Amino acid sequence: MTDGRVTLVSGNWKMNENHFEALKLVQELAALLRASGVPKGREVSIHPSFTSLRTVQTAVETDHVPVALGAQNCHFEDRGAFTGEVSAEMLAKLNVSYVIAGHSERRTYFGETDLLVRRKVDAILAHGMRPIVCVGETLDERSAGEAFSRVTHQVAEVLSGRSGEVVGGVVVAYEPLWAIGTGETASVEDAEQMCAAIREEVGRFAGAGAAASIRLQYGGSVTPETAGALLDAKNVDGLLVGGASLDAERFVGIVRAQA
Ligand code: PEP
Repeated sequence: MTDGRVTLVSGNWKMNENHFEALKLVQELAALLRASGVPKGREVSIHPSFTSLRTVQTAVETDHVPVALGAQNCHFEDRGAFTGEVSAEMLAKLNVSYVIAGHSERRTYFGETDLLVRRKVDAILAHGMRPIVCVGETLDERSAGEAFSRVTHQVAEVLSGRSGEVVGGVVVAYEPLWAIGTGETASVEDAEQMCAAIREEVGRFAGAGAAASIRLQYGGSVTPETAGALLDAKNVDGLLVGGASLDAERFVGIVRAQA
């Protein structure tokens, strides 16, 4: 990655770790990061489940753990009759900094559309947090030669029509669906080419300043062994990590990875 952007390595814990286990995991992370540190120019976020957020927030703030608190999802309304949902306003009160929006598992299992993701991004931004907008193509779309048009369309649907300054502060995670939780990692060239295409598309609808400052993560079966080369790619500014983020040593291995 280039141009002085701070890389962001995010751990998506998904529906794992009850709040006792989450506390243990954040304490393990704290010990490892205290010993080895976060490399200069790199930022870390962790995304526990809603029931663990308060516990993890307290641990992070009390022990000054060098990670930002993240959430995995939110509702677009601040409050109301939406049984079972959690609002961006509620997350902001827990000092959440980053909220994942439109993860492929939410698009696939809960029918989230680009329009819904767009509304969530509105709510996240309105409460002063940063969205991590997930986009990605299926294997069928890639085989049909539609990967670039699919992904750039998703990016435009969710982010266009906003100021360059706003778009420049967003994070987009390119996560090819065929690489999530499968052990199948996109090649560095695949990740780089798609991130370059996303940056170009952002430039088209939000201007050169936004394209230069927006941060683009790659996600999909990242390991400590593959992280360094991915992070070294010109247009890859970070990683969104699922499975490997549940193991403190492996996650810190990714946080500290160099090409
Ligand atoms: C993810 O959940 O965003 C993800 C990339 O998962 P995994 O690393 O397990 O493929």
